[in-house]
Amino acid sequence: MSRQVPEDGTQLPLMEEFYTIQGEGYHTGKAAYFIRLGGCDVGCHWCDVKESWDASIHPLTAVDTIVQNADLHPAKTVVVTGGEPLIYNLDPLTQSLQKRGIRTFMETSGAYPLSGKWDWICLSPKKFKAPRKDVMDAAGELKVIIFNKSDFQWAEEHAAQVNPSCKLYLQPEWSKAAEMTPLIIDYVMNNPKWEISLQTHKYLNIP
Ligand code: SF4
Repeated sequence: MSRQVPEDGTQLPLMEEFYTIQGEGYHTGKAAYFIRLGGCDVGCHWCDVKESWDASIHPLTAVDTIVQNADLHPAKTVVVTGGEPLIYNLDPLTQSLQKRGIRTFMETSGAYPLSGKWDWICLSPKKFKAPRKDVMDAAGELKVIIFNKSDFQWAEEHAAQVNPSCKLYLQPEWSKAAEMTPLIIDYVMNNPKWEISLQTHKYLNIP
């Protein structure tokens, strides 16, 4: 799937890029330019971007072009997401962004080795492919998607493994939000080290 992507990270399979408001987690409500890379083999059955999975259908795009596009927007913050962005070597992308004074944020499942220099990493681990220790150590926030009741225990197991300053979020899976949100509210009130993250961009009807 990713074999055709140059290993030096100078070109990446770009699925889409758009300027919007970050809807989830620690940076909720802040404007940011989103770069969505194609390619993911984690296989979450509830994934809402399944069209990202096959990297070969997304055009290989020069990092220089991606960075120039990002620099056109007033919020000098980029969120690199996917797919699973860490499938690729992200060193050239983040170096080039930071050289222009653009802050680099990433959303990752943590299933691949860490590359790139990041101002913020949101780790959203998935049951289907375990997160790696290098990503857990570097994460600024741990965002666990709650799909069913057993996910609270799973969330605690991962909270015990991230660095002590990592912010902790529980977020209802979108299709189960009506059922899971009341449970998350109860859980956070009883376990206040956690906070609730909602997919506010979906309520606001923005990308
Ligand atoms: Fe979808 Fe993300 Fe899971 Fe990959 S890791 S299958 S992109 S939700």
